[in-house]
Amino acid sequence: MSIPVPPQQNAPHAPHPGAGGPYPAGPSCRFCGSTPAVNVTVRGHQGFLVMMRFLSLPGPFCRSCGEAAVRRMNLNSLWQGWWGLASLVINPVTMLVNLATLSRIRKLPAPVPPAPVAPAPTMPYESAPTVPYGSAPAGPPR
Ligand SMILES: [Zn+2]
Repeated sequence: MSIPVPPQQNAPHAPHPGAGGPYPAGPSCRFCGSTPAVNVTVRGHQGFLVMMRFLSLPGPFCRSCGEAAVRRMNLNSLWQGWWGLASLVINPVTMLVNLATLSRIRKLPAPVPPAPVAPAPTMPYESAPTVPYGSAPAGPPR
């Protein structure tokens, strides 16, 4: 005796709900999920008297989030990036690299948020099982 088995579905993964929008498939923003997004890394620098820190914030970013990320990193670098001898050279280079990154981000069209995901189907109220009045247990047995 054999049990019929439905054929295996070897189809690739279904596209996410936001796919099929006005823009071709590509990366979506790491913060808001909007498309289109560009895969860039925004950098920052912190100089201390004897040490320094290189900051990086990898994308992808949509236009709005990318502009905000560059603005935040450059603003922090403007007051945190100068406090060391090597940092006097490294910090302006870092901010210039960010400006080049910003020009790539600004070439993106306006971001489109991902489509909302439909909620899970629920049972209609009319077809929910009913409990006859007085048949519910009164509480835990004593
Ligand atoms: Zn975004």
